[in-house]
Amino acid sequence: MGKIGFIGLGIMGKPMASNLLKAGKSLVVYDIADAPMKELAEIGAETAISPADVTAKADIIITMLPNSPHVREVVTGKDGILDTVKNGQIVVDMSSIAPLVSRELCALLEAKGAEMLDAPVSGGQEKAEKGTLAIMVGGKEDVYSKVKDVLDLMGKSNYVAGIGAGQTAKLVNQTIVAINIAAVAEGMSLAKKSGVDPEKVFNAIRGGLAGSQCMEDKAPRIFEARYNPGFRINLHIKDLGNVQETSHALHLSMPLVAQVMEMMQNLAAEGHETLDHGALGLFYEKLNNISLKK
Ligand code: NAD
Repeated sequence: MGKIGFIGLGIMGKPMASNLLKAGKSLVVYDIADAPMKELAEIGAETAISPADVTAKADIIITMLPNSPHVREVVTGKDGILDTVKNGQIVVDMSSIAPLVSRELCALLEAKGAEMLDAPVSGGQEKAEKGTLAIMVGGKEDVYSKVKDVLDLMGKSNYVAGIGAGQTAKLVNQTIVAINIAAVAEGMSLAKKSGVDPEKVFNAIRGGLAGSQCMEDKAPRIFEARYNPGFRINLHIKDLGNVQETSHALHLSMPLVAQVMEMMQNLAAEGHETLDHGALGLFYEKLNNISLKK
């Protein structure tokens, strides 16, 4: 595969694109913001003037955008990917969006002879910088095999199933993480109100069945009120919105997601939307008039 196009150079996209450059890949980049394009041009990327321009110049086009409407705009909007896409090109959307939208855009691209994979990531800015993201891939398996080497320069990719299945895996991930953090905060509230030091409880239970990567990362944050992101509340609200859009379309009941969504909305209403999602600890502190700080 020749040149790689990269559209969306934010917190995640910029370090991912720069890892491709560092690996010696030839890159053409685009973002509506000039600053990250300039930074990448300084380390060897070519810049483009629109998604259509990227698509005219690249074989593989990667998108890393905030949410479904942004990806739809970049693919179908004015000067979008669909304007210049050719037979045999592969679009890899690494944004976290609704699986229904991945399937809709894939059909439009396939009608032009192109292919699409959905390949959202888990891991955040630090893992994006280190090139150690977990990448969940949906689409045709033979298309995945053509871009696997490129994806693995940004992390570890895992094939899931057909188009949209990578997004489904990401929504499952975000569901489990959200509920897990709320469970940690709720459990630690019981310790506190019972007069038992939550940190001592954490140390007593972390090696047992309740132990989890979530608890390892978030319990210390809650005890230290260390809520710099990490993964922001507003992004998690966006992802839970996509979970609910998907589950409602399927008539699937997800009562715990609904509860945690309301907790996160309350935090956002209090002005905490840019804090780490570990700030669910703050929600429980306010709810119960307690402090979980050590
Ligand atoms: P971000 O807001 O930092 O970056 C998005 C970039 O897209 C920005 O640079 C913006 O200018 C650009 N953009 C928006 N609309 C555009 C358009 N029409 N054309 C071209 N560029 C456009 O977001 P991020 O944190 O990099 O997240 C990207 C995706 O990755 C999201 O779906 C997010 O949920 C997911 N994600 C984020 C994290 C994280 O920790 N930040 C972790 C895992 C997954």
